[in-house]
Amino acid sequence: MGERMVLEIKGLSFSIDERKILKNIDLKVEKGEFIGLIGPNGAGKSTLLKCINGINKAEGSIKVKGCEISKLDGRKIAREISLMHQDTLITFPFQVIDVVLMGRYPHNGRLKGESLEDYEIARRYMKLTETLELSERKITNVSGGERQRVLFAKTLTQETGIILLDEPTASLDIAYQEQIFDYARELSGNGKTVIAAVHDLKIAARYCNRLILMKDGIILADGKPAEVLTAENLKSAYGVNAIIYRNSITGQMDFYISKRNGEKKGTVHVIGGGGSASGVMRYLFERGYTISSGVLWSGDSDLRFAEVFGIKCIKCDPFCEISEEIYQSNVALIKESEFTIISNMPFGNSNIKNLEAALNAKRLVIIEDEPPEIRDYTEGKALTLYNELKSKAIVTTSARLHEIL
Ligand code: ADP
Ligand code: MG
Repeated sequence: MGERMVLEIKGLSFSIDERKILKNIDLKVEKGEFIGLIGPNGAGKSTLLKCINGINKAEGSIKVKGCEISKLDGRKIAREISLMHQDTLITFPFQVIDVVLMGRYPHNGRLKGESLEDYEIARRYMKLTETLELSERKITNVSGGERQRVLFAKTLTQETGIILLDEPTASLDIAYQEQIFDYARELSGNGKTVIAAVHDLKIAARYCNRLILMKDGIILADGKPAEVLTAENLKSAYGVNAIIYRNSITGQMDFYISKRNGEKKGTVHVIGGGGSASGVMRYLFERGYTISSGVLWSGDSDLRFAEVFGIKCIKCDPFCEISEEIYQSNVALIKESEFTIISNMPFGNSNIKNLEAALNAKRLVIIEDEPPEIRDYTEGKALTLYNELKSKAIVTTSARLHEIL
């Protein structure tokens, strides 16, 4: 086994009342990894974490730093692996500081109480999790979110090489959620190994360097976030149609869960630009229309949208004129489409040709959310053509598009 391998699982199975909850799981984990365990409710994430720290006695082999955990007693395991789980039930009114100090238990002699050093360690992690001011309070009297932070402090106080977190931020405000994941990432950067069951896929993609997707007690996918979070995997794990893209504002991975139903509608060509057409295209996409769009310029958010949603699109290099060839391919798409829509777009000298192309529409719909005069940057040139188009079109607004399509 390599130096860096801290956890090696082979053929792990776990059953409750004859029902197999985990089925033949293989997993190798290296020092310093921050792994997100994802998957729908009931996939087996919590059960797997409890097998790793020995609470659940599983079949198969689980080795921690080369040692079979079934051969280690609870205290020895607890010096290597900590688990923060959701269903930690504390009914006795311990003081918060005593709950955190319980994290030191595996390190202390059986009869020896806490040392000054233990207090220092506990206080250090309480400061970090902003729970120091709760020290004297009773654990039974703090809020759900506070309790979760106290349990995180206890887990850190255990100072293990492997840290297992089961949905550690389930009842936390967003600020604390970020804080816990930030800190978990920092820990993994410092050589700790973190495995966290994470409900929120965006959070998982953002913080973890590896994701393990589970469903029905097996591992469906294992790899880097971008490899695991594919439309195909999300379909088989969660049964949803997802569109995965990099959010151009945050630069982070984002998901659009498609509400598109199976029903196929007609074909629609959308003329837009400057971000004016994305909402229209999304609406049509959800309705099941086959959409095309153009001409759009590289760098335009409408083009970005079309590409992410797999919409056929005629495009043009930034700041370039529409060439005859590009113009003709746009016209061809318009002629093939049952409907052509002109969105509430700005008119510039470069896109007048898109309005000309619209003259070829079988049925033309114009979306006018704002008066065309305030969108005109051609000193009226585009408006003449636009008004001509309007006389042949159904004119509506974004909000009323559903009356037509
Ligand atoms: P996850 O954490 O991914 O939501 P769990 O590991 O909690 O999934 O559960 C996996 C499966 O095991 C589920 O079908 C769940 O109903 C079952 N299960 C978990 N714990 C118990 C238990 N104590 N008794 C019976 N079934 C259980
Ligand atoms: Mg769970």
